[in-house]
Amino acid sequence: SNGRHDKDKGVNVQVLLRCRPLSEEERRLHTPVVISCNENRREVTAVQNIANKQIDRTFAFDKVFGPTSQQKDLYDQSIIPIVNEVLEGYNCTIFAYGQTGTGKTYTMEGGGKKTKNGDFPSDAGVIPRAVRQIFEILEAQLAEYSMKVTFLELYNEEITDLLAPEECSKFVDDKAKKPIALMEDGKGGVLVRGLEEEIVCSASEIYKILEKGSSKRRTAETLLNKQSSRSHSIFSITIHIKECTPEGEEMIKCGKLNLVDLAGSENISRSGAREGRAREAGEINKSLLTLGRVINALVEHSGHVPYRDSKLTRLLRDSLGGKTKTCIIATVSPSIHCLEETLSTLDYAHRAK
Ligand code: ADP
Ligand code: MG
Repeated sequence: SNGRHDKDKGVNVQVLLRCRPLSEEERRLHTPVVISCNENRREVTAVQNIANKQIDRTFAFDKVFGPTSQQKDLYDQSIIPIVNEVLEGYNCTIFAYGQTGTGKTYTMEGGGKKTKNGDFPSDAGVIPRAVRQIFEILEAQLAEYSMKVTFLELYNEEITDLLAPEECSKFVDDKAKKPIALMEDGKGGVLVRGLEEEIVCSASEIYKILEKGSSKRRTAETLLNKQSSRSHSIFSITIHIKECTPEGEEMIKCGKLNLVDLAGSENISRSGAREGRAREAGEINKSLLTLGRVINALVEHSGHVPYRDSKLTRLLRDSLGGKTKTCIIATVSPSIHCLEETLSTLDYAHRAK
């Protein structure tokens, strides 16, 4: 669809495509590469061999990051402007979408490198870089601000608070002993009853919270014996900034940044329509399916946007559509063994444009 038109209507969805490099193991096995990225033309080509005939399919995106792209490249070229919008009072959401093992968590969180002297590791992902940018700007502006973060996981339409104190049992709000529930706030947003909100004052505090939440996510996975590939994680930062108008009036600007590491996209395609089991697929990952429909509806300006059909889209409702910015980072593998999933990711991501 036409970008200018989208802007006029206040819908702003940007779709990036990132292809990871072959892993060491894949290189050792001489795994054939079937994806080529043309960053300048912003195109990705998948090469398919059907009955000895080579069939190329090319997809265009707002930006393309090939296998040699660095975390800093992706951040500087695509995410910096979004974080600036958050500080201007927009609600923005960055999604990582793709098959398990293609680099969603690597792109959002990072590769897990530690540096000796506490410097920023070169493989740090979008989340730590966004946190750093936010504090750098606020400190340079000498702005008066307050900030809070939430970190939750969505699995089978059930919310787990990744910041809940250890002694609280899972899925439970310790005061009411009721599952964490979503309630409309009457202003177009949603309240999550029982969700921990941490007030933060520095970047290092957020890094600690992130680490705590991520390790909790890993522990919960092992305990419940579930696959991380089936859950979504949502890390949200809400910022209130005090400003003075030229007339000397005080004003509070509020912006929100949601950083979403989605469930593996194979959860919709593999058990999905192809095998005629769309209903079951909907149960496995209703939120992933609904997200696609919501983004399509926003991009196509269709009247009905089915926010209410899943927890993920209800949670993000105040950040999808209207005066908001959305960025989808679709991740793929270059390997021939992933080609089928890669094609469905390219299709899904391309449709969101
Ligand atoms: P996902 O979260 O989509 O399941 P991961 O982020 O865990 O995938 O990535 C799978 C593996 O590939 C990890 O070992 C990760 O470090 C590596 N990887 C992913 N993307 C890249 C990249 N762009 N550059 C280098 N390594 C990557
Ligand atoms: Mg992951």
